[in-house]
Amino acid sequence: MPDTEEAVLPAPESRGAWEAGEGGGPPPWAFGASTILGLACTGWRAMPVLVETVVDRGLPHFVVVGLPSTAVREARERVRAAVRASGRRFPLHRITVSLSPADLPKEGTSLDLAVALGLLAASGQAPAPPPGWAVFGELGLDGSVRPVRGALSMAVAARQQGVTHLVCPAANAREVALLPGIRPLPARRLDDLLDWLAGPVLPPPVPLPEAAGDPGAPGPPAPLPDLASVRGQPWARRALELAAAGGHHLLLLGPPGAGKTLLASCLPGLLPPLDGEAAIEVTAIHSVAGQLPPGAGLIQRPPLRAPHHATPVAAMVGGGKVPRPGEASLAHRGVLLLDELAEFRRETLEALREPLEAGHVTVARLAGAERFPAAFQLVATANPCPCGQPGGRCHCSERQVARYRQALSGPLLDRIDLQVRVRRAALPPTAAGPREDSRTVRERVEAARQLQALRFHRLGLSHPPGQPPVNRWLEAGDAARWAPMGPAARRLLDTLYRDASLGLSSRGLVKVLRVARTAADLEGRDEVTVDDIELAAEFRFPPGW
Ligand SMILES: [Zn+2]
Repeated sequence: MPDTEEAVLPAPESRGAWEAGEGGGPPPWAFGASTILGLACTGWRAMPVLVETVVDRGLPHFVVVGLPSTAVREARERVRAAVRASGRRFPLHRITVSLSPADLPKEGTSLDLAVALGLLAASGQAPAPPPGWAVFGELGLDGSVRPVRGALSMAVAARQQGVTHLVCPAANAREVALLPGIRPLPARRLDDLLDWLAGPVLPPPVPLPEAAGDPGAPGPPAPLPDLASVRGQPWARRALELAAAGGHHLLLLGPPGAGKTLLASCLPGLLPPLDGEAAIEVTAIHSVAGQLPPGAGLIQRPPLRAPHHATPVAAMVGGGKVPRPGEASLAHRGVLLLDELAEFRRETLEALREPLEAGHVTVARLAGAERFPAAFQLVATANPCPCGQPGGRCHCSERQVARYRQALSGPLLDRIDLQVRVRRAALPPTAAGPREDSRTVRERVEAARQLQALRFHRLGLSHPPGQPPVNRWLEAGDAARWAPMGPAARRLLDTLYRDASLGLSSRGLVKVLRVARTAADLEGRDEVTVDDIELAAEFRFPPGW
């Protein structure tokens, strides 16, 4: 439980202090000051905002200072109407609202409720909230409290301030309840909040929603395609398992109808589920993007995003006047599937360079840059040539094929460790033999990932902060330490490197070695063997790619 004494809340004497109006008796107006803890989103995170309100004698005047955006300035009109709709009086005097920290821009409508409460407390029409309380929500002109984006981020920011009770829009309450240690007080109307402050009775605790698998579907996760439904394709299955275990980016190459998309959609089901902090982070990003429906639970399954090839840059990596996360961030800690890679615009693919290298995207905004997490595993699919027909039926010219492949090998192919050809399954379902399901494979993947985590720790290998230590991050310089091998394996590597017909650059060789490392980890071995290297070398394209 957070320590409420550390809460950034006003000292009691400064809250709701007011003086009587002229003439004694019940004051026509009260004049005083109040301080309320509110919350506002900045990028995908939220920040605590102290809302200080002074109601003073003077001509009617209502000003908000402290870098408010247009939406926050417009809060004045919503607050005025909502206060009146709740049967309270709007002071026709000099009202000054100051938002701090003053140097950070405040966006969105989440401060409405705090501004309204500050005004009522400063004018003596409501008690100030007790220590440990914070408030957020948009106000309707009729006094209703409306949901906002990013409620989970606001709960995280509030908890860091020692908040124990968080007044929030009723439609956001289940989202706030996802965070342990903080109690949501769901308000439907401004009146609800005023009732709780006046009386001893608080609303009953909010029930916790079930975990959500897919953003977009409240309740239990919608089923993902299972590996058991994939017929044949032994090589592609093997590649998927290696990709899941080592976090390797993957390219599936094959003609239309070969089942590339189905295979790619199986990958999230092979990855370990998201644990506590990771699940909160992923859910918060989806909430800020407005992709989390009311009542949805914590996202515990790695997300799968499959943006259309016409997706513009801003939607792919995030952006906008008030920056929102893009597909790359919505795929954070999950899988970004680029189906038919050749169809994507080059500038869109170029924009994915930064997240592929650093695990985040930087979005420019008026007040400096905003950084969104975007550590996804890339799965791309492509046809072998522009027409996509197999060998005999393909009528593409050599030049067409060359130009097509060059476009493919642009910014992304260089980061892909695993490349596999997918052929149409020729086998009838019964001939394929028993097929392993995703769960069985996931157990091996989890064991292999544990070995990797131990090795990264033991050898002090580096990986981007906040991201799982998987073989994708292994660097060539440390290879002697992370890939111990006998003389036969070393000779094979040497042969591969010298064999000009294989066209392996030293970069290509490191990719082979990383995948070989993962193959050994899947079998629980520390030493990399000839078999591991031969297997890894199979997942490279012949020269010309
Ligand atoms: Zn063709």
